[in-house]
Amino acid sequence: MRLLRPLAGTPNRLALTLTTLYVLCGYGSAWLARLAVGPLPVMEFASGAGLVCLLLGGRRGYASVWFGSTIVHLPQLTMMLGIEFALPLAGALAFVDMAEAHLARIGWRSGEARFQHPLLREPRELLYFWLYVVMLPPLLTQPIQVLLLNVAGIGNQPSIMETGWRTLILILGHASGLFLIGPCFAGWRDRGRWPRLVSLPWWWIAAFVTVLALAFLVYRHTLMLVLPLLLVMAIQYGLPGTSLAVLLLALTSIAGTAHGQGIFIGATSELSYLNLQIFLFSTGFMLHYLALAQTLLLRHRMRLEAEVIARTEALAASNAKLAELATIDELTGARNRREWLHRATEQLLHARRYPEPLSVLILDLDHFKLINDSYGHHAGDLALCAACDACTAALRASDSFARWGGEEFVVLLPATSKEESRRVAEKLRQAIASIRIGLDNGEMVRLTVSIGMASLRDYDDTLDLLIRRADDALYRAKRGGRDCVVCEGDDA
Ligand code: GH3
Ligand code: MG
Ligand code: MG
Repeated sequence: MRLLRPLAGTPNRLALTLTTLYVLCGYGSAWLARLAVGPLPVMEFASGAGLVCLLLGGRRGYASVWFGSTIVHLPQLTMMLGIEFALPLAGALAFVDMAEAHLARIGWRSGEARFQHPLLREPRELLYFWLYVVMLPPLLTQPIQVLLLNVAGIGNQPSIMETGWRTLILILGHASGLFLIGPCFAGWRDRGRWPRLVSLPWWWIAAFVTVLALAFLVYRHTLMLVLPLLLVMAIQYGLPGTSLAVLLLALTSIAGTAHGQGIFIGATSELSYLNLQIFLFSTGFMLHYLALAQTLLLRHRMRLEAEVIARTEALAASNAKLAELATIDELTGARNRREWLHRATEQLLHARRYPEPLSVLILDLDHFKLINDSYGHHAGDLALCAACDACTAALRASDSFARWGGEEFVVLLPATSKEESRRVAEKLRQAIASIRIGLDNGEMVRLTVSIGMASLRDYDDTLDLLIRRADDALYRAKRGGRDCVVCEGDDA
């Protein structure tokens, strides 16, 4: 599509471009592929171009096909019949071509409706494509072409046998055009452009050209060597690359056969023609199938990989959430008791291994029950959060602070002497005492805290001992009138 866009700035320019495409395909087929079977090309690429015209051009596409087909038929008919007969006959034949393109378009669009996505995305659609887009439209329309040609007297009163051959050749020729151009169109539509041949590995192009040259110039059976090359194309480049390679193979095979060379030459030109068709239909079908299957597999793999990535991310997120829930106190956002115990045990081991001082503080807000009773639970919650924030702000990052439970908090001060720890405890007490929480009703909540402190001794093997001593000191602080710091060993 992108290729056509600059050419197709306006609908009329698009119609002109499509007509040109049609005419080029028509003359190209006639020039390239005429065997000695009368004025019929082996492969009518214009039938494929007609389908593309209708798919891209809509209503204008019909005009493109009609004009294009008339232009393609006119010169030869004029030579045979003179312009006065040639013109109406060319116009009538163009109507038949238009009808064929119309039927192919119906087949294509119905396929899209049936499979619910652009046609030729999955291997299972190939048989449908072959039946309803490739075979049925020429089967229904080409007998009319033959009838028109016979009525016009082209072919000098052909026998029934000749008419049968002519019909078969026309049907197969038109079917081949649709068969080769349809997948190219689908590949081009999906990729936005055909894979540039120059981007193919040089050895592939060299091998392809060598095999074809050998097959048509030296030893015809070497053509079979092209099959592995096409296989590589189907696996590596999907439908766009494969349809292009099959088209190239068709063009060279037709040209070679038309010049009496290659593997397809039979006893008569009709048989040569059939040999060629049988080979191209079967190889083309197989390769298109393989390319689509490969792309489907890739698509599934990518979808699976994306799903695995999404699920891994979701799992990591829920693990992080779980870890947070397991270590953080929900109300205040401070660490919880479990996490504190875990960290504090490590810090105790460290302090004992490299003899360093260490202290534990236990903080208990004074008369907190009274705050709840006087101002309500919400005010109590706000007070707990404010106390937490005040402590966190006053402590160093290396200190471990946690909510011990209820209105009690705990602090571990690593590498801190007893005197220093006492100063920290006093700082915390003052920080909490300076908290003022303004309530909606204008009332002001104030807090005080009692703090018990214990420092590491030589015989402290477990945290429990330290915590118990800090708790004792706290008990004495409460008894001593609250809003104070008591260290173990102090006189209460
Ligand atoms: P003391 O000075 O002796 O420590 O008195 P206190 O009232 O602070 O002690 P007490 O143990 O009698 O009461 C603690 C109160 O803390 C009771 C409880 O309702 C309250 N509390 C515990 N956890 C929370 C909480 O998460 N939110 C609120 N609002 N209150 C809590
Ligand atoms: Mg308490
Ligand atoms: Mg209390």
